[in-house]
Amino acid sequence: CGIVAYVGPKDAAPILLEGLQRLEYRGYDSAGIVVSSKGLKVRKVKGRVADLAKVVPARFKGALGIGHTRWATHGVPSDENAHPHLSGDERIAVVHNGIIENAGELRAKLVADGVEFRSETDTEVLAHLIAAAVDENDSLEEAVRKSLKSVVGTYGIAVIDAERPGEVVVARNGSPIVLGIGEKEMFAASDVAALVRYTRQVVHLEDGELAVLRADGFHTFASDARETAKEPLTVDWDA
Ligand code: GLU
Repeated sequence: CGIVAYVGPKDAAPILLEGLQRLEYRGYDSAGIVVSSKGLKVRKVKGRVADLAKVVPARFKGALGIGHTRWATHGVPSDENAHPHLSGDERIAVVHNGIIENAGELRAKLVADGVEFRSETDTEVLAHLIAAAVDENDSLEEAVRKSLKSVVGTYGIAVIDAERPGEVVVARNGSPIVLGIGEKEMFAASDVAALVRYTRQVVHLEDGELAVLRADGFHTFASDARETAKEPLTVDWDA
């Protein structure tokens, strides 16, 4: 339902929680965040963003992270089904808006390969697909792009890799993703409402596009992996 992502010099957790709060008006049943600093740290709960905030420790260090509010489509609202979803080795974390139509088929293949699932969601297949691809590809964006080729359905996603603590990859197909450009920090969200407290400079992704965010900027790519040139827009909004 709602996505927020951050990479920069600050602690990500308070920014993610604030952004998720700004997306509450869309409705949701669960919320979660993951931050990266010497491994991934996850908190996720069935309930409100305020309930999530209560279980996030004051010292929850990590200058990179992604967050989600879930509106369940596949699997009941529960702590386990809340996003983010991680790969078995806890290296890859994914948040997802939308519906993976062929999740059942992808899941059956992964299970046959020995993958153990921890949730009932369609989303979890993405974490396992990307984890399988990340070792065979030079970059996280290549692993995400390759994994998305086997996916049928709609998505806005944000992905992080514990072994690449400086970057977030986002992609969209039928579910919005907007990038926010800060001073030596980058944001992304499913809705500009989550960003306006931090920046007015935004870039909207088109369907099929993928973006890599680092503290010092971003790159966007079309589905054929060619880099796209995007002009930032200035949002006029009273936050
Ligand atoms: N289909 C996913 C799920 O059920 C994502 C739902 C959403 O867009 O929040 O977990």
